[in-house]
Amino acid sequence: MGLLKTEGIVTKTTKYSETSLIVTVITRDFGKISAIANNVRSSKSHMLMGLQLFSFSEIVFYESRSKTGLYKLNEMSVIESFGNIRNDLEKLAYASYFAEVANSAVSEDNPDEEILRLLLNTLFALDRDLCPKNKIKTVFEWRIAAMSGYEPDVEACVKCGCVQGDMLLCFSEGEVFCESCGGEKTDCGRVSEGMRRIIKYICEAESKRIFSFDANDAAIEYLGLLGERYIQRQFDKKFSTLDYLKKVLSAGM
Ligand SMILES: [Zn+2]
Repeated sequence: MGLLKTEGIVTKTTKYSETSLIVTVITRDFGKISAIANNVRSSKSHMLMGLQLFSFSEIVFYESRSKTGLYKLNEMSVIESFGNIRNDLEKLAYASYFAEVANSAVSEDNPDEEILRLLLNTLFALDRDLCPKNKIKTVFEWRIAAMSGYEPDVEACVKCGCVQGDMLLCFSEGEVFCESCGGEKTDCGRVSEGMRRIIKYICEAESKRIFSFDANDAAIEYLGLLGERYIQRQFDKKFSTLDYLKKVLSAGM
């Protein structure tokens, strides 16, 4: 039986039986895959490490799938375990949200290396405290929207073409309207010129520089609230992990 080899991040784990787990992995070469890991109790430790949520590993699995469409894992060698995330309730809640969004952005058999890299950079920043957690979230949301083909056009009012002042960003259309053109619009958020510049930066910056911009905490927080609504609308999905994240954050205050 043929074996396939790739690298990927575990984005979901479900207990299947006493000794087996089903894992969802966003891989470099095969998009999102679901695979079963048998005999997890007796598996070697590196496989157990690799099966942990958010671990980034080299993965070997059998080419043929079961009737249920699951691949069978053969081996996992951890490259980066992101252990700090699993030891911190807030980080864990953030990462669970990122993983759920990434799972809906990547489809099976449709590799998306950009999104894999974004998820890796995001988990790395979270694990190592490279910047405030709400900034990591805001960047992740706008960036994954852009990578999924939903970059909003924030440069100019889509109706009259003016470029200055506050605008209304419409979540369903991904376009902005100036005050006089967008008067009756609903399901929008108000964005200043500075905020529009930040959104554009996040969507278009080189992948290594996505967190390298200055903005005050209030603007970051506000853009995160808009980002949540924007991706829910564009992906047409509610993320239960976002509700959980909010619960964890309000309990921690
Ligand atoms: Zn206008």
